[in-house]
Amino acid sequence: MIRETKKVLEECKKIQEEYFYFTAICEEEALLQAETANDPLRGLFVSVKDCLCVKGVESAAGSRILKGYQPLFDATVIKRLKDAGAIIIGKTAQDEFGFGSFNTNVGLNVPIPKNPLDRERVTGGSSGGGAGLTRKASFNHVAITESTGGSIESPAAFCGVIGFCPTYGRVSRYGLISYADSLDKIGIMSKKVSEIKPVLEMISGYDQKDATSLRAEVDFTAKTGKFKIGIIKESLTKGVGAEIRKKVQWCINKLKDNGHTVEEVSLPITFAYGIPAYYIISTSEASSNLARFCGLRYGNKTFNVYFAEIRSQHFNEESKRRIILGTFARMAGYRDAYYIKATKVRTKIIQEYKQLFQKYDVLISPTMPVVAPKFSEVKKMTPLENYLMDILTVGPNLAGIPHASIPIGKVNNLPVGLMANTDHLQEGKLLEFLQIIEDLGDDSP
Ligand code: GLN
Repeated sequence: MIRETKKVLEECKKIQEEYFYFTAICEEEALLQAETANDPLRGLFVSVKDCLCVKGVESAAGSRILKGYQPLFDATVIKRLKDAGAIIIGKTAQDEFGFGSFNTNVGLNVPIPKNPLDRERVTGGSSGGGAGLTRKASFNHVAITESTGGSIESPAAFCGVIGFCPTYGRVSRYGLISYADSLDKIGIMSKKVSEIKPVLEMISGYDQKDATSLRAEVDFTAKTGKFKIGIIKESLTKGVGAEIRKKVQWCINKLKDNGHTVEEVSLPITFAYGIPAYYIISTSEASSNLARFCGLRYGNKTFNVYFAEIRSQHFNEESKRRIILGTFARMAGYRDAYYIKATKVRTKIIQEYKQLFQKYDVLISPTMPVVAPKFSEVKKMTPLENYLMDILTVGPNLAGIPHASIPIGKVNNLPVGLMANTDHLQEGKLLEFLQIIEDLGDDSP
C-alpha cells in the first residue's frame, strides 16, 4: 500500500495548489497507516472534514481560534475507519465551525476552496473541501463530512457528487467539534452510490461515548422494488431556478417510465417556518458551544479582558454574528419566546414528514435553488439571503431523517443535485433509491 499511498498524496498536493480543499494533508500518518492497512476497507483513502478530531493532526473546524490544536484521540468514526484499514489522507476545508452554505465564511487567513468545475465559483458549504476533493480525486476515495442544516447536501450538489447524511444519532458524534448538538450528523460523500454502504456500515452503530447515539440495528439492505415517491410541491415554485426544475421534471418522467409512482405532496409548516426555526436552534446551541473557546481554560482577574480580546481577534464575522444572535435567543426572558418555541416548531416539522412517510417511501426535491454561484455573486448577498439558500435542506436536517443529494445532470455545465429523503433509520431504502437515480444515467436534455 505504501507506493499507492505515496502516489495518492502527490495527487492531493497537486490538487491543493489550485483548489485549496485541504486544511492539512497528513502524510506521515497516512504512510504509517498504509503499512498496517488491513481488510475490509483496505485501499480506501478517506478525507475528513476539519471539525472531526484526528489524533495528532490539526483539527480546527476551519477556525483560527483552534489553530494548532492536535487532538490526543480519534473521533469514534475515525477510529472505526482506521481499524477497518482505511487510510486517512487529510483534513478538509469548511466554513468556520460549519457556519455557511458556500464555504466562503472560512476562518481568518484560511484559503477558500474553489469549485472543481469552475474556479470562479464556490464549492458550496460548509463541507466544501470534502465535496471538491471527492469530485477531483482519481483514486479510491470517500469524504467524511458533517451536516447541521445542509452542509453535506449543498456542496455535494454544487460539486456534482453524492452527499449522504444518515439519521440523527446513527453515527457517533464523539470527537466532533460541535456546531449545534441536536442537529449535527456525520455523513459520507462519494462519486458512486455503491461506495457508501460499506463505509456507512463501518461508522454506524451505538457508541457509549455519545449520549445521543442510537442502539438501532445496522442493516442497510432494502428491497422496495417499485417506489412510491412524493415530489415536494413547495420546492418547485418561486425561488428555484427554472432550469433546475426542468431537470427534476426530467427525472420524475423517467421514474414514472420505469414503473415508480410519483405524486405531489406538501410540507407547509416546514417551508413556512423551517428557516427561522433552524437558525434559532442552531445559533443558540452554537453560541453555547463556542463559549469554551477562549484561549485559556482558567484565569486570573484579567480573564474577561483576555477572553474578549482572543475572541474578537480570532473568530470571523459570521461566527460573531451567530454568537450574538444565539446568545440573544437563549437569554433569560427570551428563551421561551425563541429557543423553546423553535423546538416546538421542529416537533411539528417532524410530524409533518412522518405523516407523509406513512404513504410514501421517499420524498424528493431539488437540493439547492441555484447552481454553484460565483464568488462575486456570493459577496453581494446579505446574511439573510445567505440563510435563505438553505430553504430546501433545513427540513430533513431538523427532522433528523436520512437524506442525500445525488447529481442529475448539468445546467450550463454546472451540476444539479436531486435531494431524496426517507423516514428515520431507512438508510437502506435511501441507498436503494439513489441507485435507481444513478442508473437513470445522464441523458437529460
Ligand atoms: N448553511 C447552514 C448554516 O449555515 C448549514 C451548515 C451546516 O450544515 N453545518 O448553518
